[in-house]
Parts: sequence; structure tokens; C-alpha cells
Amino acid sequence: MSDLQKSGIGIPSPQYVRAIAPYQPGKPVSEVARERGLVESDVIKLASNENPRGASSRAIDAINSALKELARYPDGNAFELKEVLAKIHGIEQDAIVLGNGSNDVLELAAIAFLAPGTSAIYSQHCFVVNRLATQARGAEGIEVPARGFGHDLDAMRAAVRDDTRVIFVSNPNNPTGTWIDASQVLGFIREVPSHVLVVLDEAYYEYLAVADQSASIEWVQEFPNLLVTRTFSKAHGLAGLRVGYGVSHPGVADLMNRVRQPFNVNSVAQAAAIASLGDTGFVNDSVDLNLAGMKQLTSGFEALSLDWIPSRGNFISVRVGDAAQVFNGLLERGVIVRPIGGYGLPEHLRVTVGLDSENARFLDSLAAVLQAASS
Ligand code: PMP
Repeated sequence: MSDLQKSGIGIPSPQYVRAIAPYQPGKPVSEVARERGLVESDVIKLASNENPRGASSRAIDAINSALKELARYPDGNAFELKEVLAKIHGIEQDAIVLGNGSNDVLELAAIAFLAPGTSAIYSQHCFVVNRLATQARGAEGIEVPARGFGHDLDAMRAAVRDDTRVIFVSNPNNPTGTWIDASQVLGFIREVPSHVLVVLDEAYYEYLAVADQSASIEWVQEFPNLLVTRTFSKAHGLAGLRVGYGVSHPGVADLMNRVRQPFNVNSVAQAAAIASLGDTGFVNDSVDLNLAGMKQLTSGFEALSLDWIPSRGNFISVRVGDAAQVFNGLLERGVIVRPIGGYGLPEHLRVTVGLDSENARFLDSLAAVLQAASS
């Protein structure tokens, strides 16, 4: 009865669902243009860590071909995509779980392993989906204070309880861009008890210097309690199609596949992902552009005497003071970035590394907004 009263719609809903604060996505260009009376083509969006170059032309060709089969259901087992991924990573297909974005894979891990009476561990300032997925299962979320804006792996290990089933580690993390080197992550995985699944979220893996890219997918052979997630949304530029994957022990993958929607990855996304995996040149060029843009942004911040959190992703969080006010000022100038007060960083804004011209426009606008605020 109390559930009935509180839900306000006459249908009882679990308290843990009603407690969820909805995800706040980056504002779409069309919405900002409409609200601010701007022309859409004059608005730039650096708010959702998307690839400013778009997608590989090979992926676009594959998408066009795949359109001919739109009336058919996709291959629910995504045989061809899994075959390519298995070859690239030197693994068996039964180690792979595909998701509607890697977000879906994080959810599948939560569905497969969390329930009321269990707990999951994540870091302060971590990717918000870790918390959302935990809450949606009625599990207890244990948020461990960050160290230097990043994950404190020792404290996260120490937070493990008998009822803990999942530890989320985003590496690099969003929105802080903090990164932990391979030896520390491996040392941590060794220490985590076998009843706890380590979900190692590597959505920004491609942006790391090759020397810093860990052999995390190989570690899966040694650790049955490790799930590594990757995505096509970032360096591959396919965020709109929603495709990501997880690699784990086949036993873990099997449980996740049981709770997966049978056709969770659409046919166009599967075709595009396969084609994009064949275009390493596109990904490499995207990573190079990101590196140059990151330098452009940090030089700009330095010139404005702003502090930033060094980032290994395709975005960076910069301390601007009253971030809500600066965010609004930027919106008025047609520049969309992301306020991250909801992540416990009310003085920072997160900006995605864009094209050279977009970064310059953002920096000029930021300088103007800060100038206006101080005068
Ligand atoms: N993990 C992290 C750390 C992210 O920042 C994101 C995207 N914001 C995701 C996972 C999910 O991305 P997608 O579902 O598009 O793969």
C-alpha cells in the first residue's frame, strides 16, 4: 500500500526504482538551437564524447548495404561480428557478449550478478551508469572516495564484502579522464576475491598510447571473474548505432547472454562494426586528431589560467568556478559542453575534444564567458 501511495500512478513500483535519479544526457544541437533561437549549423556539440570526424567511410558503405535487409531480424548471435572480434583478440566466440552500446553490457552484468541483498562497488566521480545499473537491481551501491579524482583501487579492494558481486572500474574513467596503468590494474584483479566480478570498462581504450594499452582481454584467460568492456561509440564514431561488447570467461558470458534481449544489437550496427574493425586507419587518424586537440585545449586552459584534470580519453574536465553559469554562457554562444555537478564536480565542465575549429571556438567562447563573468 505504501508503494501504491508513493508511486503516484496507482501501480506499485519498488522503492529502489523510485530512488533512481534519471541519466542526464548531453543536450542535442536541435534542442539548444530551438531554445536559444540559434541556427542549428551554428551550434557545436562537445558534450557526449563523440567522434568529431564521424564514422569510417567503410562503415557508411556497410550501413548502406545493410539497409536492404531492414525487414529482417538481425542475427541475434551476431556470428560474423563475433567471428571478427574473436580473430582480432585471439579468443573464442563464446567469450563475447554484444551489447546495445557497452552501456548495455554493463547493465547485463548487473542483471546477471546483482539482486537485492547484494552489493556493488564503484568510485566517487565514476561513470554514472555503474550506479544506475546497481540501483535498478535493488543492490546496494558502495561508493568509494576517489584519490586525485581517480579510482582508489586499494580502498575499493578493501570495501569488498561477502555480499559484493561486482566492482566497476572505468579505465580511463569518465568524466575525470583518469587512468590507471596495467600493472596496477592487474595487481588489483589478483587481489579481488573470486566471488566478485571485476567489470573493467575500457570505452576509451583506443585513445591510449599503444604502449599504455593493457593486455586486459588476455587477462580474461587467467581470471574467470573479469569482464572487459569496449565500445564502437568513441574512436569508431558509431555512437548513434549503439554497439559495444564484453569479453569474459564463457561462464560469465553465458549468464549475461541468458538475460540479454535476443536481438539487442541491430543488423545495421553489426555490419558497421565489422566494417569499422577493418578500417584501422580511420581509428588511428581519430586518435591522432584527439591527441592534437587535447594539446590545443590544455594550452588554451593554461592561457586562461584554468586547472584541468589530465585526461586519457577524448574529453577533458576543466575547473571554471561557477560551472552552471559558464555552461549557460557557452550555450548562449551555441557551444554545448557538459556540466558534471551530478558527478560531484560542481566547479568543472567536461568538454569533448572536437575538430581543431570546434576546439578553437570553444576556447574563444570560454574566454568570453569568463571575461563577462568577472567584469
Ligand atoms: N563507459 C564509459 C566510461 C563511458 O563514458 C560511456 C559513454 N558515455 C560508456 C561506457 C557507454 O558508452 P556506449 O554505451 O555508447 O558504448
